[in-house]
Amino acid sequence: MQDSFDVVIVGGAVVGSAAAYFLAAEAGFGGSLLVLERDPSYRDCATTRSLASIRHQFSTPENIRMSMFGTRFLRQAHEQLAVDGQGPAIGLREAGYLFLAGEEGRSVLEAKHRLQRAEGADVALLSARQLRLRFPWLDASDLVAGSLGLSGEGWLDAHALMHGFRRKAISLGAVYRHGHAAGLQRHGRRIEAVVLGDGTRVRCGSVINAAGTGAAALARTAGIELPVQARKRCVFHFGSPAQLPGCPLVIDPSGLYFRPEGTGFLCGIAPAAHEDPECHDFEVPLDWWEERLWPALAQRVPGFEAARLLSAWAGHYDVSTLDDNAIVGAHPEVDNLLFANGFSGHGLQQSPAVGRALAELVTGGGFRSLDLAALGWARVLENRPLRELNVV
Ligand SMILES: Cc1cc2nc3c(=O)[nH]c(=O)nc-3n(C[C@H](O)[C@H](O)[C@H](O)COP(=O)(O)OP(=O)(O)OC[C@H]3O[C@@H](n4cnc5c(N)ncnc54)[C@H](O)[C@@H]3O)c2cc1C
Repeated sequence: MQDSFDVVIVGGAVVGSAAAYFLAAEAGFGGSLLVLERDPSYRDCATTRSLASIRHQFSTPENIRMSMFGTRFLRQAHEQLAVDGQGPAIGLREAGYLFLAGEEGRSVLEAKHRLQRAEGADVALLSARQLRLRFPWLDASDLVAGSLGLSGEGWLDAHALMHGFRRKAISLGAVYRHGHAAGLQRHGRRIEAVVLGDGTRVRCGSVINAAGTGAAALARTAGIELPVQARKRCVFHFGSPAQLPGCPLVIDPSGLYFRPEGTGFLCGIAPAAHEDPECHDFEVPLDWWEERLWPALAQRVPGFEAARLLSAWAGHYDVSTLDDNAIVGAHPEVDNLLFANGFSGHGLQQSPAVGRALAELVTGGGFRSLDLAALGWARVLENRPLRELNVV
């Protein structure tokens, strides 16, 4: 078995596989590429447990730009990721996001809206009257405004996208291996090898840490403290006789969100800071349905009074504890170790932009298409948060 690769990517879910695809497809690369994945079933990774949605409504220009590239990529992923004429059916549905605001949230919503428009996002600010006209099923009595994505936002099949990246990367020469990266062997400013759980040593030209919630443990083996923690987020699937024509992904001022899925709906709500510790279990607090979600749903959409819970699951955000934004690029003390971690709930939609950025860093040492320097390690080490306000 080959024990030396130009690039080793640890983690083969959506971010690792996007990086593998963009790198393998990069004209200037031509090297050998290994993706190490400890669980090829992908059962528990964030990608599989995601809500799988994409929006341009962020509060930082980098996040808006990454998602706008994400949409452009997703629209032609079927062709771009085709192997032997067959592309992944990612099922992109551009039904939009709708961020709602009461009087308290109006000025922040308007400020974010101005930034999003300046970045070219196709979003419209609606008054309470316009909300009522457009979405008659919504109770807008306590609302003053809403920001609606008119195009480019919506949801997709996360698993199909991940496998599309993976399949295409393999067709271009990437090697996927089932294995747990137990440690990084560091010598001064370089990682010399990735050591697997069974003791195998894989020498490497460079390493990409795409290990999701496993990223901090891996970084620690190279003496680097990565401020990323696993935080549990739960998604509830419910049925309802209510008809909600044109229903986008709605973000309520209470923190509740919901969107259609098949003949039913998905919803969730962010936990309060004091009930959101680092967490690795998959237990769903089912009492949240009765106590938090259903009342909030029925208040916003009276037709949800008759909603019934069908199922629920838990997953883990890889939260950047500094500022809820990804950490992308090399640590200043190690030249050949690149990070793509801490996506804080928006990594699926950012995977095309981040995969492309990593390929640019590996082949040219810098960003070419989208400057993501603001998401680098400098802000972490200097404790300068680049705070994202629209965290769902
Ligand atoms: C409930 C929920 C809802 C979400 N909703 C959205 C959404 O609507 N839109 C959006 O954009 N994002 C969303 N996200 C976030 C998104 O899913 C993640 O940001 C994204 O999937 C991260 O991808 P990843 O490849 O970095 O990590 P992961 O998908 O977690 O994959 C990491 C992979 O690395 C492997 N691994 C870890 N450690 C090692 C090791 N040492 N050796 C080998 N392999 C290793 C794991 O097995 C795993 O397969 C959501 C997440 C959750 C949990």
